[in-house]
Amino acid sequence: CGIFGIFGRKNASQLTYFGLHALQHRGQESAGIVVSEDGDFSIHKGMGLVSSVFGENNLRKLKGDRAIGHVRYSTTGSSLLSNAQPLLINSGKGMLALAHNGNLVNGYKIRRQLEKEGSIFHTTLDTEVIAHLIARSREKNIEDSILDCLKQIKGAFSLVLLTKDNLYGIRDPYGFRPLSLGKLGDGYVLASETCALDIVGAEYVRDIKPGEMVIINSQGVCSIQYAEGHSAFCIFEFIYFARPDSIIGGQNVHLARMEMGRALAREMSAEIDVVVPVPDSGISAAQGFAEEKGIPFQWGLIKNRYVGRTFISPEPEIRDIKVKLKLNPICEIIKGKRVLLIDDSIVRGTTSKRIIKMLKEKGAKEVHFGVSSPPVVYPCYYGLDTSNRRELIAARMSVEEICNYIGADSLTYLSQAGMLKALARTELGFCTACFDGNYPIGKGTGKYSLEEG
Ligand code: 5GP
Ligand code: SF4
Ligand code: MG
Repeated sequence: CGIFGIFGRKNASQLTYFGLHALQHRGQESAGIVVSEDGDFSIHKGMGLVSSVFGENNLRKLKGDRAIGHVRYSTTGSSLLSNAQPLLINSGKGMLALAHNGNLVNGYKIRRQLEKEGSIFHTTLDTEVIAHLIARSREKNIEDSILDCLKQIKGAFSLVLLTKDNLYGIRDPYGFRPLSLGKLGDGYVLASETCALDIVGAEYVRDIKPGEMVIINSQGVCSIQYAEGHSAFCIFEFIYFARPDSIIGGQNVHLARMEMGRALAREMSAEIDVVVPVPDSGISAAQGFAEEKGIPFQWGLIKNRYVGRTFISPEPEIRDIKVKLKLNPICEIIKGKRVLLIDDSIVRGTTSKRIIKMLKEKGAKEVHFGVSSPPVVYPCYYGLDTSNRRELIAARMSVEEICNYIGADSLTYLSQAGMLKALARTELGFCTACFDGNYPIGKGTGKYSLEEG
């Protein structure tokens, strides 16, 4: 998911709308904005992309100088409007809007307990647990209630909260998900990634620290270290999820990916004629690889940017069209060549298998495959598409078997040591659980899903 918050700017909802556009890659399932003016809160949210949820009319109605926004990442089974964020509640201590990126590992347990005690939930989001805990806290004021809630929840959470007087930005004690602070004139901005600060013209100030809560109001910014901080930043943000123009931990994401491509090149010997990225996710790494090895980098695959989700027909003929709809090779680049395809990751192996087949049909002599991260063997419990990861190919097959399955002439993954070395400049500690199974805070009850029980 992507989150955004702004305080002290008169076109708060407009700016949030643009911020959410910049964070669209973090979630396409739903989008929403809550804005407030003199204690009056307005909300608009809907299913789909930011551009289809918001138009001139509904944006004009969202008046105020402070706002938060959210774009939701699609996971299966819970694609409901009621699950769109931000959530807006009357906490009994004042209005409260909140938007969450991450996943609680004890959310399900807390929810069951709260339901036993009579709480009624309106969504299937673990985020609603946070809202309930704040509302039910015995603390008198809303800020102490938030701090009370933070003592009880465990997991990955970057949060933006809006009350009548304050905008809060919070990161969990391990800092799994990103959250940055920016300054815009007299106002302040919070955003999942710095690319959203850029788009509204805000100046990057710093990242919120693990275990930190910043409080933004008309007096400025202050900070509370509510828990001891550790750094277990999600390494997959650097590999795949974050936008290449963002800066995380002082490191530009595109340059970090190039560095991972370089590291892969140093670990791999291959007789190849041309390096071709799988667009868009493999571009930066492929560029780094090609530079390091001194082999030409070429656009051998063109991506159609306008294809969203396509209807999946069981007919094999139609399924093949679907792949070509998204990616089409440039024959002149690959024909008769020994091609090295580079992508950031292999999850189920379907993308790579289809592309390799396509390149071979178009006359590539050999198709090798390089991955700028290690095999994804373990599922994520901290908010990154767990449902898709149930079918992780590297959990079932060896590298050799995967190579056969995808039909490549060779397959090379970047080593974990090589990946970490490529990211050493960030001075962050990382969660690498999907590669090595070392879950920094355990798995909890798994995915927060009421269907799963
Ligand atoms: P596969 O076909 O192997 O399942 O998917 C591999 C592709 O999915 C890669 O190109 C990679 O960029 C992309 N990918 C990696 N992680 C994720 C994720 O969490 N969500 C989505 N939608 N794509 C991902
Ligand atoms: Fe990120 Fe993987 Fe850790 Fe999940 S398990 S937080 S995807 S590094
Ligand atoms: Mg991809």
